[in-house]
Amino acid sequence: MISPEFLAMLRCPLDTTVPVRLEVPEEGRDMPALVCTRCETRYLIHDGIPNMLPEDAVLPPGCPNLDRLPCRQRPRS
Ligand SMILES: [Zn+2]
Repeated sequence: MISPEFLAMLRCPLDTTVPVRLEVPEEGRDMPALVCTRCETRYLIHDGIPNMLPEDAVLPPGCPNLDRLPCRQRPRS
């Protein structure tokens, strides 16, 4: 599984200043995921390996596409 040290290094790929949190479902029905603490996008963890590709991520409810996410809208220098 993902170590706390590794988790602390991970950032939302859409905004690399924003940390993610680990979310593990209680019932085991959903896959564990890394969830962006700002845009709430869920990056699913397959067999202990997080898929941080925005194209594969689960968007938060009500968000139609990646370009509407707060992390993508804020321009970074
Ligand atoms: Zn984000």
